[in-house]
Amino acid sequence: MSRRRQIYEGKAKILYEGPEPGTLIQYFKDDATAFNAQKKGTISGKGVLNNRISEHIFTLLGMLGVPTHFIRRLNMREQLIRQVEIVPIEVVVRNVAAGSLSKRLGIEEGTPLPRTIIEYYYKDDALGDPLISEEHIACFGWASQEEMNDIADLAVRINDFLCGLFAGIGIRLVDFKLEFGRLWENDYSRIILADEISPDGCRLWDMASGEKLDKDRFRRDLGGEAEAYQEVARRLGLMPEGEANMVLDLDKHRKKRGI
Ligand code: 5GP
Repeated sequence: MSRRRQIYEGKAKILYEGPEPGTLIQYFKDDATAFNAQKKGTISGKGVLNNRISEHIFTLLGMLGVPTHFIRRLNMREQLIRQVEIVPIEVVVRNVAAGSLSKRLGIEEGTPLPRTIIEYYYKDDALGDPLISEEHIACFGWASQEEMNDIADLAVRINDFLCGLFAGIGIRLVDFKLEFGRLWENDYSRIILADEISPDGCRLWDMASGEKLDKDRFRRDLGGEAEAYQEVARRLGLMPEGEANMVLDLDKHRKKRGI
């Protein structure tokens, strides 16, 4: 038996060679880092929850016509994905002032933004992922103008969908980070959504209490991070909810067997 080949290890995920050419296996770890990996820890069960949450969101986005790298979930911590060439840009979409925007511009956290902001950061750990403009992207050839148009269009569509999805379960989508990749087909490439969408890369605030349900609990030493991630999964309908669910499942099972 041979061990599968590891392609890449990031802070929260590992990529392994997939079963067919052009595929990879994305493994979700419990490891958590913040402030460019200066703070390290683990959030118990995070990998399992992020795998499920990201699967759910990518599946819904796929149904809306947003192209993504997601193929299917394989098990509790792994999903099969399409291999892409990652565009070295982190795309941050903001609806409400928070985090680095509040710090940089002195705008109080929680201030609703009059319009959605899309920001770009250059993916480079050694440089601490600096904020960049489209001028830098064009100048250094990190993405073409056509690719940037696709990325911005997709980011807006994803934001519209996610704002509604989370509002429906009493959660305010403050901001989030996206990554995109180039999917090569012969000599042509197209932009598709890659990486993950989970409480690791989103700010999710409970609409009623303002409670943070995301990685800021870890970043800011608030505690209860595992519970916050579970709460997001529960509201998305991804957690078994005890007896009511079991009865439903049993019913389905009986019908299938014709009992
Ligand atoms: P900020 O720039 O305010 O620190 O982050 C804006 C949003 O993007 C937050 O939702 C944050 O979680 C996400 N984000 C920005 N950079 C990263 C990153 O390197 N990793 C992850 N997981 N999320 C990020």
